[in-house]
Amino acid sequence: PTFEAMGLKEDLLRGIYAYGYETPSAVQSRAIVQILKGRDTIAQAQSGTGKTATFSISLLQTIDTKLRETQALVLSPTRELAVQIQNVILALGNYMNVQCHACIGGTSVGEDIRKLDFGQHVVSGTPGRVADMIRRRNLRTRHIQMLILDEADELLDRGFKDQIYDVYRYLPPSTQVVVVSATLPYDVLEMTSKFTTDPVRILV
Ligand code: AMP
Repeated sequence: PTFEAMGLKEDLLRGIYAYGYETPSAVQSRAIVQILKGRDTIAQAQSGTGKTATFSISLLQTIDTKLRETQALVLSPTRELAVQIQNVILALGNYMNVQCHACIGGTSVGEDIRKLDFGQHVVSGTPGRVADMIRRRNLRTRHIQMLILDEADELLDRGFKDQIYDVYRYLPPSTQVVVVSATLPYDVLEMTSKFTTDPVRILV
């Protein structure tokens, strides 16, 4: 399996190789093709498997950078993780002119608003601040096509359920959902059954 065989855009392939990735990891070769087919996807994968690049490559392939609107939203359980994800997306998307903002608590709301008003193709954030920015209408949801819930088990363990459900309610009904979780306890399965349609399940 190769990244070329996935039919990725030239400028994205260039970013992947420049970042030092040569061949896809197991979760990447199994999940990216399904996500790019538009399938809702549940990937049971831990840190270290290449899970971040799995959804980062998928969302970069999907977005249209000519449209300066948020098209993909990643929710993760900690500010640090949200920033790490932002950095991976910016690195892999280095040749794509992609705008990716980290929308996290503990930072200036004014700065968030300024960045969002400028136009962000991708937002990587924590549920509280993201829900807040959506409610204020600074994060416009109309063009969102993909929602990624990273470390979904951690998201729920940390008590973000209500905020995630809040965010979900604002998304277009056709939004594709990708759930990544190390474990699949009841509350994760309950959430995925509400948010996904006929999902592909991938276990690595
Ligand atoms: P993650 O599972 O997202 O925590 O990633 C684990 C580590 O694997 C990170 O340091 C990634 O940069 C690295 N990684 C992810 N995909 C690849 C790949 N295809 N080739 C080489 N390293 C990778």
